[in-house]
Amino acid sequence: IGFVGKTDPELAKAMGLELARQRRNLELIASENIVSPAVMAAMGSILTNKYAEGYPGKRYYGGCEYIDMVETLAIDRAKALFDCQWANVQPHSGAQANMAVYFALLAPGDKVLGMSLADGGHLTHGSPVNMSGKYFQFASYGVTREDEQIDYDALRAQALEWRPKLIVAGASAYPRTIDFETLAGIAKECGALLMVDMAHIAGLVAAGEHPSPLPWADVVTTTTHKTLRGPRGGLILSNDPELGKKIDKAIFPGTQGGPLEHIIAAKAVCFGEALQPAFKDYQRQVVKNAAALAAGLTERGFRLVSGGTDNHLVLVDLQNFDLTGKEFERRLDEVYITVNKNAIPFDPKSTFVTSGIRAGSPAVTTRGLKEADMTEIAELIYLAAADFAGQADAIRQRVGALCEKYPLYL
Ligand code: PLP
Repeated sequence: IGFVGKTDPELAKAMGLELARQRRNLELIASENIVSPAVMAAMGSILTNKYAEGYPGKRYYGGCEYIDMVETLAIDRAKALFDCQWANVQPHSGAQANMAVYFALLAPGDKVLGMSLADGGHLTHGSPVNMSGKYFQFASYGVTREDEQIDYDALRAQALEWRPKLIVAGASAYPRTIDFETLAGIAKECGALLMVDMAHIAGLVAAGEHPSPLPWADVVTTTTHKTLRGPRGGLILSNDPELGKKIDKAIFPGTQGGPLEHIIAAKAVCFGEALQPAFKDYQRQVVKNAAALAAGLTERGFRLVSGGTDNHLVLVDLQNFDLTGKEFERRLDEVYITVNKNAIPFDPKSTFVTSGIRAGSPAVTTRGLKEADMTEIAELIYLAAADFAGQADAIRQRVGALCEKYPLYL
């Protein structure tokens, strides 16, 4: 920010305010994290100057010998981290990774089965407002009313009837373990390929805190910036190098131009960090912290979708507090706790209003918070729901004490 300020004080001011916000707020958005200074330094490096269309050893530009070293390191570390045979580290984002896989495996109009957005799936899994839903025929599966977990029996029956070419698994707001082995069995039975979008849980998978989809899926996509704690970007993995060749072509020249080698360098740093023993400890704490938050909220009268969590996030049903997700997100923002409103399964309210919020532990765990701190956060969330007018100042003070105890980027 200091460098930017020397030539562009207007922009530096906005950046400084955002840094102050990140330091002041408890970040509970489940898809966010806080990267290491090394990840950040690689992103803000001279590697942004270089064009490198193509792949290591097969570039369309001169001068790529050192860029090749960077990208090869990222590929080799991704393969080691997720124990797989092929990786493409070039997708600019998770959405780009998913589009490239569709472009590689499907023709326009092909049938696909993906998880419903309303039940926790992602926009790129067939939403009608997304390119996926416009160019392919998506049908969607979801969770049961009884336990709010994926209904594998219904999914199987639907797959056998719909006969999709591809089944897409993975979610943005699903608090439970996903059974990839069962999904692979269903895909095989109906003659479909299986793609798993593990964006939310990639860090847990890397650390062994969630079963890996790689032994089961034909192709796995992910973002690198959520639980994995790397730069904003995408990654595609597979154990089938022949399929990998098709996907390489779908990324470049199919859907992208020059790769962002500064971001790829930061992905290499991230994968290197994730290969260290400390990363396993971090992910274990992410899961413990989400469980502590779930217990704290349940004890205080909140109903959690599916009754709890196995991973890094909770979905809170606010209906018994007579609150909407929209209103509660705003209230929590006022007391420096950042969450997002989120539809819950069978939500009677619109996606702009919602009956729920989603809260996750990855970012606060990076800051250093432990289980007792999560219980304190559950209490602060409860106070904001039960007596906002009376407690807002006190909540802000208690949030301030936590943020001071676990300082950010000092
Ligand atoms: N896939 C899943 C499951 C996600 O949750 C997200 C982001 O929220 C994405 C894909 C899209 O990633 P990006 O925002 O990098 O395009």
